[in-house]
Amino acid sequence: MPELKKYKMFIGGEWVDSDTKKTFETLNPEDNKPWAIVPEASASDVDKAVQAAQKAFEGDWPKILPRERAKFLRAIGNKLRDNAELLGKIETIDTGKLYRETNKQANYIAEYYDYYAGMADKVEGTVLPIDKPNIQAITSRIPIGVIAAIVPWNSQMFLTATKLAPALAMGNTVVIKSSELAPAVMFEFAKLIEETGIPKGVVNVITGFGDPCGKALTTHNLVEKVAFTGGPETARHIIRNSAENLSEVSLELGGKSPVAVFDDAHQENAVNGITAGIFGASGQSCIAGSRLYLQKGIYDEFLDKLTKRAEKIKIGAPMDPDTEMGPLSNYKQLEIIEKNIKKTTEQGGKIKCGGERHPFSNEGYYFPPTIIECDNHNLPTAENELFGPVLSVMKFDTENEVIEKMNDNQYGLSSGVYTSDFSRGLRVSNAIRAGITFVNTYRLISPSAPFGGIKDSGYGKEAGMDSIKDYTRAVSYTHLTLPTKA
Ligand code: NAD
Repeated sequence: MPELKKYKMFIGGEWVDSDTKKTFETLNPEDNKPWAIVPEASASDVDKAVQAAQKAFEGDWPKILPRERAKFLRAIGNKLRDNAELLGKIETIDTGKLYRETNKQANYIAEYYDYYAGMADKVEGTVLPIDKPNIQAITSRIPIGVIAAIVPWNSQMFLTATKLAPALAMGNTVVIKSSELAPAVMFEFAKLIEETGIPKGVVNVITGFGDPCGKALTTHNLVEKVAFTGGPETARHIIRNSAENLSEVSLELGGKSPVAVFDDAHQENAVNGITAGIFGASGQSCIAGSRLYLQKGIYDEFLDKLTKRAEKIKIGAPMDPDTEMGPLSNYKQLEIIEKNIKKTTEQGGKIKCGGERHPFSNEGYYFPPTIIECDNHNLPTAENELFGPVLSVMKFDTENEVIEKMNDNQYGLSSGVYTSDFSRGLRVSNAIRAGITFVNTYRLISPSAPFGGIKDSGYGKEAGMDSIKDYTRAVSYTHLTLPTKA
C-alpha cells in the first residue's frame, strides 16, 4: 500500500501536529481507501490558533494601509491561478469531485480575492446630520477581530474565499476550520498563503471534528464572529455555542431548491441548465436544483428529453477528463439517498432513471443520475435535502400554483425559472422566497453576486459588495467644536 501523505496544521505561521498527537485518515471516494493523514485539533490546538490570530490582530495587520493588505489578497489570487492544477487534483482525490471542475474552480476562485482586494480601500465612513448644535459626528468602519471560518467538505475553496477574502480585506484575522471530511486541499491552500509572506497568525488553518475542535472554536472568548457553512443541525449547535462568547454568527445552510419550467421555455436550454443544476458535482451542491416543476403542456415531452439526457451522463473516475459524474463523497451521503428513494417509491414515486447504485465500481460510492416522478412534493425525495444526484419531478398548471408550490418548503436558498416571457421571469423571481433566483440559467456564481439564503437556509450574505460590511463594525466619533480662543 502506498505511503499516506501527511499534513500538518498551520498555526501562527508554523506547521504543527496536534498537541495530543492525534491524527485521522482521509479517504479517496474513488475506492474508499485512506490516502492522507491529518492532525486532529484538540481544544488546546484551537486555543493556540485563536491566540495566534488575536496576536496578529493586535499587531500590524489591521493598521497597515488597506491597499497594502490588498496586495496580499491579490497574491493569494495569483497563487491560486498558478497552482490550480495541484489544488484541483488534491480536492478531487479527497472529495471525488471531477478534476475538470475542481481545477476550473481553483482558477475562478482567484477572482474573489481580486474582487475584495479592490474593495479594501473602498469602504467609507459617513458624516451624520446630527440634531445638536456645534457637534460634528462621523462614523467609520473598523475590523471585528478574530473570525472563525467553518466550512463543509464540498466546494471548500469557494466557501473559504467568500469568508477569507472580505475578512482579510477589512483587517480581520482568521482561523479556518476545514471539515473532517476531505480537509487536504485546505492545507495545500495554507502552503500558498504562507508563500505570500502574509504576517504570521493572520490566517490559520486547522481541522478536526465538531467536538472538541468546532465546539472549542465557536465558544472561544476571543472569537468575534463565526462565519459558518454547513448543515442546519450543526448551525443550531453553533448558535448555542455563540451564547458563550457572544460572537456574531452568519449561516449558509442547506437547500431544497425548486425549478419551474413553463410551456414557453427554450427547451434545450432548460434541459442543459437543469442537468447541470442537479447532476453537476453529483448533486452535492447546496444550491442543487432538486425539485422540478414542469408545466402540464410540456410535461411528458420535456421529462422524456431530460431523462434521455440524464441516462447519457458518463459515470467514471473523477480524474478522467471524459467523466461527467464521479462518485459520491462519502458513505453517509449514499445512505441518506438510498433511504429517501426507498421511502419515496413506497409512497408512489416512479423512478424514470437511476435509483440504484451504479456498477462502475463497488469500492467507491457511484450513484447514477436519478429522476423520480412524484404526485406531490411532500414525498421524501421531493421534500428533504439529499445532497445527491436525485431530481424529483412534479406537474403544475398555473403560475400562481407553481409559486405556491415552490415556496412550500422549509428552505429558501436558490431557485430557477425557465420561460421566454421576461415579465413572467421577473414576477416569479419576485414571488419566490429564496436568496438566489436564476432565470433561464442555473449554478452561475460571481464575486459580485450576493450568495446566501433565507428561511432555514440561513442568514448573512456572502460575496458581493454588501458582504464586506459584515466583516466590519460601524463606530462613531462625536466632536464638540469649541470656539477658537481669541
Ligand atoms: P456539517 O454541518 O456536518 O459540517 C460543516 C462544518 O461544521 C464541518 O467543518 C464540521 O466539522 C463543523 N462542525 C460540526 N459540528 C460542529 C460543532 N458542534 N461546532 C462547530 N463546528 C462543527 O455539514 P456537511 O455535511 O459537511 O456539509 C453539508 C451541508 O452543508 C449541507 O446541508 C449543505 O447544503 C450545506 N452547504 C451549504 C452551502 C451554502 O452556501 N449555503 C454550501 C455548501 C454546503
